[in-house]
Formats: sequence, C-alpha cells, structure tokens
Amino acid sequence: TYVVTENCIACKYTDCVEVCPVDCFYEGENTLVIHPDECIDCGVCEPECPADAIRPDTDPDMEKWVEFNRKYSELW
Ligand code: SF4
Repeated sequence: TYVVTENCIACKYTDCVEVCPVDCFYEGENTLVIHPDECIDCGVCEPECPADAIRPDTDPDMEKWVEFNRKYSELW
C-alpha cells in the first residue's frame, strides 16, 4: 500500500485524489490519508503529488506513517 507522509501537512493540492482509481484518499486533521485496506497499490498517485509526500509503505521507517494513515482513514 502507499502512504501519505509529512510533506502533505497543510498541502493544498489534491492531484492525488483526482488520479486514484479507487477513491481511497480521505481527509485527516491536516493531511490527506490513504486507506490502507482500499489502496490497490497501483502507484499512480505517487508521481502526481507536487509535495512528494506519497511513499510506498515498503520504504524504510514508514511504520509511523502506516499507522497514521490507518488511524485517520478509519475515522470515515
Ligand atoms: Fe490510489 Fe493507487 Fe495511490 Fe493506492 S497507489 S492511493 S490505489 S492511486
């Protein structure tokens, strides 16, 4: 799955939301988040993010962001 990370904070772009084929972006407190159970791992959003905030969860040290994305997406 892909996760939204800290560069998304206060970002006003929503290019990622527009390209996601399964609409799995949700609003967090001050970022968007990706619902980990809905993301199909297509990777389309990653290059579209102007803030370079979207990473695969297989990158190093992503545990915190995996939890963050799950926490806020489950509020919906
Ligand atoms: Fe949506 Fe694909 Fe990005 Fe997952 S990787 S959030 S399915 S665009």
